[in-house]
Amino acid sequence: MTTGIDFGTTNSVVAQWNGEDVEVLSLDGEHLEDEWFYPSFEHLFPTIVGESSLRLGTLFGWEAKLRSNRVIEACKRMLRNDGGIQLRDRRVSATSVAAGVFQAMRERAEKNLTTIDSAVITVPANAKGGARYRTRAAARAAGIQVKALLNEPTAAALSYMHDIQDEGTIMVFDWGGGTIDVTVLEHRDGLFEERASRGITQLGGLEIDKKLRELIIRKIGHEPGLSVEEERQFALAVERTKIRLSTEETVLTRIPGISRLIEISRAELEAVIGHLVEDALEPARMCLNDLGISPTGISDILLIGGTSQMPCVRKAVERLMGMETVPAEICHPMTAVARGAAITAAIMEGELDSILQVSSMYALGTTTAKSLESKERVFSEIIKPRSPLPTRERKSYTPKKDFQSELKIEIWEADPSKPLKDPENFQLTTLNVRYPQPLYRHEASFTLEYTYQADGLLHVKATLDKSGKVLVDQEITDFTHGETLTIAEIKRQMTVLEGLPQPTVSAPAPAPQPEFARIEPAIRPAPGPIPGGDGKVGKSFVIDGSNIAWAGGDVKLGDTPSFARLLEAVDALKSEFPGAVVDVIVDAALAHQLPYLEREELKKAMRSGLVTQVPAGTNGKADRVVATLATRKNAVVVTNDSYKELQAEFPWLLDEGRVLGATNPGGIWLFLKRTPVRPRRPDVNGR
Ligand code: ADP
Ligand code: MG
Repeated sequence: MTTGIDFGTTNSVVAQWNGEDVEVLSLDGEHLEDEWFYPSFEHLFPTIVGESSLRLGTLFGWEAKLRSNRVIEACKRMLRNDGGIQLRDRRVSATSVAAGVFQAMRERAEKNLTTIDSAVITVPANAKGGARYRTRAAARAAGIQVKALLNEPTAAALSYMHDIQDEGTIMVFDWGGGTIDVTVLEHRDGLFEERASRGITQLGGLEIDKKLRELIIRKIGHEPGLSVEEERQFALAVERTKIRLSTEETVLTRIPGISRLIEISRAELEAVIGHLVEDALEPARMCLNDLGISPTGISDILLIGGTSQMPCVRKAVERLMGMETVPAEICHPMTAVARGAAITAAIMEGELDSILQVSSMYALGTTTAKSLESKERVFSEIIKPRSPLPTRERKSYTPKKDFQSELKIEIWEADPSKPLKDPENFQLTTLNVRYPQPLYRHEASFTLEYTYQADGLLHVKATLDKSGKVLVDQEITDFTHGETLTIAEIKRQMTVLEGLPQPTVSAPAPAPQPEFARIEPAIRPAPGPIPGGDGKVGKSFVIDGSNIAWAGGDVKLGDTPSFARLLEAVDALKSEFPGAVVDVIVDAALAHQLPYLEREELKKAMRSGLVTQVPAGTNGKADRVVATLATRKNAVVVTNDSYKELQAEFPWLLDEGRVLGATNPGGIWLFLKRTPVRPRRPDVNGR
């Protein structure tokens, strides 16, 4: 399959060429909740990862957006630099998080009975060298071969021109979640050339959400004073209200902690964001200015990005430009970029008969000393910026000193008009080259040959001029300079995203077994103690869920239980006892005592068979059910309760090792055998 991926900073979209047309995939539609079902949203895969206190591992896509307590915008960070991201107890690189997003998209595609083995991936028009390489590395670590990196506006224009088959000067006005980018492209003879590009970072849908939130607070009359979880719900309610106002005149919205519905009209929203829309026009004015043209010099205006779907944005652009924009039915704001990427992939594969010229963005070269005496290094260009690909160029260099045994050749991607140290310039790697024997410097001159493929892969060859001996001949695949990670390291860090509890001792891989056994009716042989030695594997456990969730808290003191804590304990137990069969029993009250957001999760866990709730009114909370089930299953009970009242009925509770306590000192779960508290023999007074 030929695939195109719009790896957006807020949302990603995947499209494929099916031999006749482009199909946009509904990758993650199953996780899209009803109240988020807006046109084309089933095509979106939010480019974020999330953490939920209720779930182990990392959430991706719509689950990350709608069900996490903490959201991490992978792509956005990766584009800036590769600063580490804290995930639970680990720090991982942003590139590894992005690789996790690519991997999640690949897995979802497989669920949808298609594959993403290779793809054309789009990057924002303003993405710099480092961001491009990180995008490529992230996709590769996720097992996606990158055919080419394409700029988003070019992809959108390509998608449009594929349908329209015309030439002209196109303005792409892309207003998404975090930024606005305006690009003017020339389309002639099947070639697209980016002529001007301007943008504002930190002006996107998020800023609009902020204004709408303020408006809602003014209507409520006070800050609602919400918990972290409720704040997340509030943010989602605000965004949903904004999206609905693009098609509805008024919207009634529900705010956590506020009993009445709040009514917002489109006119009210437009009034509070008027100046943001005005600011957003500035990059368009600047592009025209850069090119020295008036709006009449533009033949087509494409509005893409989610924020462009607001009617007032379309109106403002049309007013500025004095012309109509291309309607959304012809160039869809949410999917045009992915479609363009898929079309590009099809052209590159020869499946679509069309010409497409891919060109490099930046110059490629190496560094040299500014002068023989100087220590300062400057960029030396080998391949010019905006070169049509593939291309091959060479240049000759001479070492500074006689008898150098080794040379360090730095490989750079740079803007030659800027100093080497400019943050936009990017060192790919350093190659170490050894001379076969010491040579005078004039005999040691060599030619550096760069071959740059359409897929952005660079091949470097160095040949000794005098003898023609090849000193180096290799493809640059590992961008090991500075912060840039190797593919192997990214893959290693990706395992952290899977949220597997890191075992404290190296445990054997768990045997493939059902995760949680249901209550089995069969009567088992009389219970016995835990088998001796290290017979830990495959044991059966019954967890007193309410006890672990409460962790000694007291309802009278205003404490609340934590379902997340219980899930953590289950997981730690399973990691300590590989292949363990675990049943979790909770009392009926827990469902009402848990914090609001956790109640849904408990219900889900019950539906999945993970947790069994004792019917309301069962005598002695859940204890008796726990003990009965443990008898039947010859299982170990996990609780911090003494179970004293039940010892007469279930005498095996006094056996060594049949009850484990669960504690979590310093974040590490310990399951220790409890010394049974034996009932005191009644004394003479019968007490
Ligand atoms: P990016 O290109 O940054 O990945 P998108 O183009 O997917 O982002 O745009 C996402 C932004 O668009 C979000 O802020 C979202 O709330 C907003 N958005 C999506 N649909 C609409 C709509 N119909 N009306 C207004 N805003 C929308
Ligand atoms: Mg986008």
